[in-house]
Amino acid sequence: MSAAFSISDLSVSYGKVRAVKGISMLAGKGEIVALIGANGAGKTSILRAITGLTRPERGEIRFDGERLDGTGPDQVVARGVAMVPEGRRIFPFMSVRDNLLMGAYRRKDSAGVSADLDAILDRFPRLRERIKQQAGSLSGGEQQMVAIGRALMSKPRLLLLDEPSLGIAPIIVREIARFVTSINRDHGVGVILVEQNSRMALKLSSRAYVLETGRIALSGPSSELAANDDVRRAYLGG
Ligand code: ATP
Repeated sequence: MSAAFSISDLSVSYGKVRAVKGISMLAGKGEIVALIGANGAGKTSILRAITGLTRPERGEIRFDGERLDGTGPDQVVARGVAMVPEGRRIFPFMSVRDNLLMGAYRRKDSAGVSADLDAILDRFPRLRERIKQQAGSLSGGEQQMVAIGRALMSKPRLLLLDEPSLGIAPIIVREIARFVTSINRDHGVGVILVEQNSRMALKLSSRAYVLETGRIALSGPSSELAANDDVRRAYLGG
């Protein structure tokens, strides 16, 4: 596997709280990798370090041969990495269309932007029906679709998804899962999927890392982890 993305020996601290304690992980080009773990294990801190929102205390983050750490959020997006934050963070008073277009703020190819907008609306017909509506008036699941669509509008090669299934109806979770699989398959977009819904995460990903209090406790092919007794007991409800 060629590792397009790698983290080595990453630590993140908030004052005296050590949230991430020297973790390393890899993702191949176009691979879906899951990061699972309980509340507070440090998953969001890892994503924030990748996107430059949090400055790591130590460690290296590389994507396509370039260092991401020490660059900053704008540079990280410019290098093809987009994040869908936990809780979605859409712009509630803007229309669905304007929210999606915000994701393309760096792009100059207006024809490409309209084509991509159209492609996203084809995949999420619910959004096409609600294109002029204020995004804050949508259901949680629909807002999650907006957030994912907005990230895709930057044409990323790596998508970071922070708990996309949190607080969302199961039927929409399945729709989002299918969508993630299809953009990965059709466009080769790599995905780092952070989830407390471990069942879904292990199903979608080819490999996974289990994070416990800031350390990687286990890692391996997702199918093997899904069959592992410890993982089943702790994360899959027996
Ligand atoms: P969750 O699923 O709840 O988002 P998580 O696995 O993403 O959890 P993090 O949010 O990365 O975990 O938090 C890891 C640890 O760091 C927790 O103990 C948390 O309380 C602490 N932490 C996170 N952000 C901050 C902050 N800004 N200041 C202080 N401590 C923080």
